[in-house]
Amino acid sequence: SLLTGREEEGPEFGKPDFVLLDQVTMEDFMDNLKLRFEKGRIYTYIGEVVVSVNPYRKLPLYGPEMIAKYQGRELYERPPHLYAVADAAHKAMKRRAKDTCIVISGESGAGKTEASKHIMQYIAAITNPSQRAEVERVKDVLLKSTCVLEAFGNAHTNRNHNSSRFGKYMDINFDFKGDPTGGHIHSYLLEKSRVLKQHSGERNFHSFYQLLRGAKDGQLQDLNLQRDPALYTFTQQGAGLSVNSDEANYQAVIQAMKVIGFSSDEMDCVHRILAAILHLGNIQFVETESGLEVAEERLVDHVARLTATPRDLVMRSLLSRTVASGGRELIEKDHSAPEARYARDACAKAIYERLFGWIVGRINEVMEARGRDPRRDGKDTVIGVLDIYGFEIFPDNSFEQFCINYCNEKLQQLFIQLILKQEQEEYQREGITWQNIEYFNNSAIVELVERPHRGVLAILDEACASVGTVTDRLFLQSLDTHHRHHPHYTSRQLCPTDKTMEFGRDFRIKHYAGDVTSAVEGILGKGVCSGTYSTDLTLRSMWPDGQQDITEVTKRPLTAGTLFKNSMVALVENLAAKEPYYVRCIKPNEEKSPGHLDEERCRHQVAYLGLLENVRVRRAGFASRQPYPRFLLRYKMTCEYTWPNHLLGSDKSAVGALLEQHGLKDDVAFGHNKLFIRSPRTLVTLEQSRARLI
Ligand code: ADP
Ligand code: MG
Repeated sequence: SLLTGREEEGPEFGKPDFVLLDQVTMEDFMDNLKLRFEKGRIYTYIGEVVVSVNPYRKLPLYGPEMIAKYQGRELYERPPHLYAVADAAHKAMKRRAKDTCIVISGESGAGKTEASKHIMQYIAAITNPSQRAEVERVKDVLLKSTCVLEAFGNAHTNRNHNSSRFGKYMDINFDFKGDPTGGHIHSYLLEKSRVLKQHSGERNFHSFYQLLRGAKDGQLQDLNLQRDPALYTFTQQGAGLSVNSDEANYQAVIQAMKVIGFSSDEMDCVHRILAAILHLGNIQFVETESGLEVAEERLVDHVARLTATPRDLVMRSLLSRTVASGGRELIEKDHSAPEARYARDACAKAIYERLFGWIVGRINEVMEARGRDPRRDGKDTVIGVLDIYGFEIFPDNSFEQFCINYCNEKLQQLFIQLILKQEQEEYQREGITWQNIEYFNNSAIVELVERPHRGVLAILDEACASVGTVTDRLFLQSLDTHHRHHPHYTSRQLCPTDKTMEFGRDFRIKHYAGDVTSAVEGILGKGVCSGTYSTDLTLRSMWPDGQQDITEVTKRPLTAGTLFKNSMVALVENLAAKEPYYVRCIKPNEEKSPGHLDEERCRHQVAYLGLLENVRVRRAGFASRQPYPRFLLRYKMTCEYTWPNHLLGSDKSAVGALLEQHGLKDDVAFGHNKLFIRSPRTLVTLEQSRARLI
C-alpha cells in the first residue's frame, strides 16, 4: 500500500518540520536544528521549504536506493530530503503541467551547488524509463555540463574549496511524458577579477591549474607553457595550494567536453586562450627614452600566436589606445605605465569572460530543446534550478560583491513575496481568519540600489557616461548627497567617527545579512579589448558583437551595473511566473569541520533568511490546502456519504461530512474554494484510511 514503506523518524531525531515546534522561538528553532544535525538529519522542512545544513562529511543519504525510496512519494511520507522536493517539482510539472522552479540560497560554502547536483541527479534518475536515446543524450549533457562549468567558473576560496564564482540558473525542458528534452543555462556575473588577483589563501579559476598540471608535456610546449603555476603572475598566488585532483579533473573535463560535443579544434582553442591569458599576465612594461616598451617581447609573440592575432595589434593595444578627439577625428594616444598595466589586465579579464560565456553558449546550443510536443502547442514544461551566490561580506568589497549582495536582496524580496505575502493574501481571499505576521521587508534596500534616477546604479550610470570628468570621488559625493538620510546607506563623510571606512573611498550598504563596505576605486573604469581581429574562427565567434566603433563607445553604453540589474529583473520575473520550491542552505561553521554547529553563526543565518517568519506564517498557517473537488477525488471512498457520489449540495459540505466522520474537523478551516489543513498528521490519517481500501 501507499504507506507500508513509510519511514517514521522517531522523536529522538527532533521534529522533521519546524512547523511542529511547540513554540516558534529562535531557541526552539536552534535546538531542533542542532539536535537533528548531530544525528545526521541535515534536512528539515518548513512546510515545503527544505532547510539544509552542510554536514561537511559523507552521509549515506544519496544514490539509487535512496532515490527509489522517494520516487513518486508525497512529501510527508518520507524523512525530509532534497529528493522529495525534486519529486514534488517534477510531479507538479507532470501532473498539472506547471512550470516550477527550485531556488537554492545560502552563503558561500552552505552547500547550494551540492544540493543542485543532487536534485539534477534525482531528476535524471527518475526520468526516461524507456531509455529513449535523445533523452539520454540530453541528460548526459545536463550532468556533464556541471563538470565543465565548475572547471571554468569555480575556484578554491577560503570559504569553500570548490566555490562557484558565477550564478547559475538552469532550465530543464520536459515533454508530456515528463522526460527531459532540452535545457538552457543562464550564467550570472562571473567574478572575472579573480583572473588577475585572489585573496590570500585563494586560487584562480580551476581551469588554469588543471591545464598546467594535467596537460601532456608536448601540449604545454605547444602553448609555450611550463608546468609550475608559480611561474605565472595570475596563478602564482594559489600555486602552493595543492589540489591533488587538478590532474584527474583535467582529464574529466576533456572527457565531459567531448560528450557534450566540443570538437577537438574547439578544445585546442580553449587551451590556447588559457595559455594566452597566463602569458599576458607576465607582461611587464619599462619606460625607456623612446617611450614605453614591453619588457619581454617574446610574451607578446606568444599571445599573438596563441590568439591568431597580428602581433603589432596586440602590441598597440597594450601600449596605446585610440580615442575620439574633438569631432570625429581618431587619434592614437600612448599609454603611461599604469595605463598599460590596466589595459593588459582589462584584456585578460575580458578574454576570460568571453571564453566562459562562449562555453555556456556552446552547451546551450547542444541542449536546445528539440522535438517539442505538438499537443502543447509546442510549449514544453520547465523546471528551473537556481544556484546563485549568497551574501558575501569581505574586508574589501569590489563592485562584484555589490552586485552579488543586491542580487540576494532581490531574491529575498521574492521569497518574502511568494512565501509570506502570497500566503497571507490567499487566506484573506479565501475568507480564513488570519492574524497578520510581521516580517522583515527589505524593499528599502532594493530601492536604494535600483531606484530610477537616484538609486546607486542610476548614479553609477550617470557617472560612467561622463568618465574623464567624473572621478570616483565625485561619484561618492553624489551618492552621499542623494542618500544622506537613507537608513541603509552610509559613508565616512556621513559618519566621520567610523574609522572602518575611508574618506572619499568607501560607501556602505547595511544589508539585513550585515554591513558591506565597498570601495569606489576604479568602479568607473572600463577597458575595450577585442578578439575580432583574430583569424581563429572559434576565438572570433566569442566576439559576436564585432568591433565596436569608437564613436559608439563614447555614446552611452549600458554599464555593467545596469546590465546586471536588467538580468536580475528578468530572472525575478521568470521565477515569479513559476511554482517555486525553496532550499535554504545553512553553513554550520567557518572551519569546514564536520559535526560542529556554531550556534552564533547559524542563528544569524536563520535570522536573515527569514526562517522564523516562514515558520510562523506556515503555522498560522496550514500545512496543506486543496480545492474541494480535488480533495474529494482522492478521499471520497473513505466515507459512506461521499462514495461514489455525494448528495450534499456542495463539495464544501461533502468535505465537511467526510472530515466529521473521521473526527478531523478541528484540524481544518473551510475557505471559499479550498480546504485548509493544519497539520500533516491529518493528511497521513486520510492517506491511511484510503490505503486500507485500495
Ligand atoms: P556553495 O555552493 O553553497 O558555496 P557547495 O555546495 O560548493 O557550497 O559545498 C561546499 C562543500 O561542502 C562541498 O565541496 C562539500 O565538500 C561540502 N558539502 C556540501 N553539501 C554536502 C552534502 N550534502 N554532503 C556532504 N558534503 C557536502
Ligand atoms: Mg556553489
